[in-house]
Amino acid sequence: MDISQIINELAEDRENYFNAVAPPIMQTSNFVFKKVADLHKAFEDEMGGYLYSRGLNPTVDILRKKLAALDGAEDCLVFNNGAAAIFAGIFANIKSGDHIVSVAKPYTWVQRMFDVILPRFGVTSTYIDGTKIENWKNATQPNTTFYYLESPNSWDFALQPIKEVAALAKSKRITTLIDNSYCTPLYQKPVEMGIDMAMQTATKYIGGHSDTLGGVLSGSHAMMKKIFDSEYLNIGSGIQPFNAWLLIRGLRTLPARIERITNSTAKVVSFMKQHPKAESIIFPFDESFPQYELAKQQMKGACGLFTFVLKTSKMESIIKFCESLQHIMMAVSWGGHESLVIPKCAGLKPDDPIAIGFDASNKEHRYVRMYVGLEEAEYLIADLEQALIKF
Ligand SMILES: *Cc1c(COP(=O)(O)O)cnc(C)c1O
Repeated sequence: MDISQIINELAEDRENYFNAVAPPIMQTSNFVFKKVADLHKAFEDEMGGYLYSRGLNPTVDILRKKLAALDGAEDCLVFNNGAAAIFAGIFANIKSGDHIVSVAKPYTWVQRMFDVILPRFGVTSTYIDGTKIENWKNATQPNTTFYYLESPNSWDFALQPIKEVAALAKSKRITTLIDNSYCTPLYQKPVEMGIDMAMQTATKYIGGHSDTLGGVLSGSHAMMKKIFDSEYLNIGSGIQPFNAWLLIRGLRTLPARIERITNSTAKVVSFMKQHPKAESIIFPFDESFPQYELAKQQMKGACGLFTFVLKTSKMESIIKFCESLQHIMMAVSWGGHESLVIPKCAGLKPDDPIAIGFDASNKEHRYVRMYVGLEEAEYLIADLEQALIKF
């Protein structure tokens, strides 16, 4: 289906709500029944209709149908945030004694799930450099039942060869889940590449205005039903109607925002690339990127996030740079209207036995990640320029 049709028309039965262009926020917890037989049917298959808003809700359903179509998937579930979507997708597909193979340095809360929560239930995991298919093969054990991907990663943008990993998993009956937040379905459709479940945080680009959280998990209808009937209803982490409405609103402008951000990011990246105070930049669509060819092959585009390394050995210089920015704000997250930076050194723990404080010889410690929002590129470049001469 055409992307414009998905965004503007799909699942919007306007004649049911006074031909209003914008759908109503169906702010209701439950739905009434006239016949016991109908209530019985709803109990038997809660995903088949409306019973109670911890399950399905009409406003959420409009969003759900649009997001599934964008992903090229049969179905999807929309959660209250991205972390919940990942948690449910993994939890519904593992059992005690299972082993997970995951890309190195997945999203913080996924790592926490693998390191802290799952071991309590007898599930172990191995982190690998996911850039090479051999590493997936070698890390797979007889009890491996799950592969976790994140391509690109949101700091160094490491990619996995998605089609190859999906094919390997299929040959071994291993379930796959990918965090597709960096690309959104506009730039990458992992389900069409053979991955079982594609997750994205709707908090970022789909919402687009830094005013709501949301998480998307898409895949086959059978997989979504399995998750809906267990984790989705049990954890109760489904999105609320008002937040779903904000995401429908965000979706209307998604392609326009992504197009603008793509253009501005290219300008900001090339400015930083040539700047004498920048040692290097990391951006999947830059020729210097180690997996540039693969990026071009499996991604339609890249935008918004890139990382740069400042030419300094002092943490104070990085701090000075970040604190000197006058318009670009410092915060976690990304995908909104506002441009942001976040320095890796803010997350260093002085008592971490591996990274004992800041170590300039470790390039990663000097990473500054930037998100390019909707401002004029020239406005952002001028801000970067004045902050770069401050150290
Ligand atoms: C933000 C983020 C998440 C989690 O999404 P929330 O909506 O904040 O729970 C997962 N993966 C990546 C790459 C993210 O940036």
